Amino acid sequence: MERILSEGIIYKINKYADNSAIASAYTLDYGKIKLFIPKAYSSKGGVQTFIPGEIDFLKKDTSELNKFYNFHPYTSYMEYASTPAVSLRLSLYFDIFDKFYELEQADTVIWTILKKYKTSDYSKINLFSIYALLKNTGHMFNFNVCSSCGEKILELGALNNGLYFCRKCAPENSFYTESYVNTILRAFSNQELYKNLKINKFDELLVLDLFAYHIENVTCSFLKSYKLFKELIITI
Ligand SMILES: [Zn+2]
Repeated sequence: MERILSEGIIYKINKYADNSAIASAYTLDYGKIKLFIPKAYSSKGGVQTFIPGEIDFLKKDTSELNKFYNFHPYTSYMEYASTPAVSLRLSLYFDIFDKFYELEQADTVIWTILKKYKTSDYSKINLFSIYALLKNTGHMFNFNVCSSCGEKILELGALNNGLYFCRKCAPENSFYTESYVNTILRAFSNQELYKNLKINKFDELLVLDLFAYHIENVTCSFLKSYKLFKELIITI
């Protein structure tokens, strides 16, 4: 056992027994971890979620559940929790993260992406972060060419069971993408295009619909948080 101080973010707290809780966190040094918080609901206001900071915990060798000591949120990121445009997106992001990452599966890119919400280009960062997650876990489909005829797909495509098709080859029951979706996806692997990319909330939802469809297909589970996200994001 070792006492650890790692940068990270706590994204889920489940009440457990009386006053204690089990939290899920992403840490820069250990990836996804679980924490047992003995006094989670103290008079001091409890542990804050969705704020980057430093997590102080005892890393157990024999158990997946580590003992939580303290969380020091970075004051320069406190606004994340009070800005619905950020917290809603982080909540969706970590719901997806939770489905794709095993405990202690390392990914330092996530930490870099988390800090980018400071720039307030929320829609763009949200899409890029989910794209990067799918790519880094080996689940991003190839949207550049039709998986059947091999033709280049510049604009309209269709996704079916993790394979991307041109409109001519798409099997029945495919998910048909709207225009600009491919253009946006292309920008994620091209620095110059990415820099000039402008995305509003409605473009964001078009791409998220595709991602959500794909994620549900890959994980064989319903992405519950997305339905709520869609309802809330247009109201803010
Ligand atoms: Zn084709």
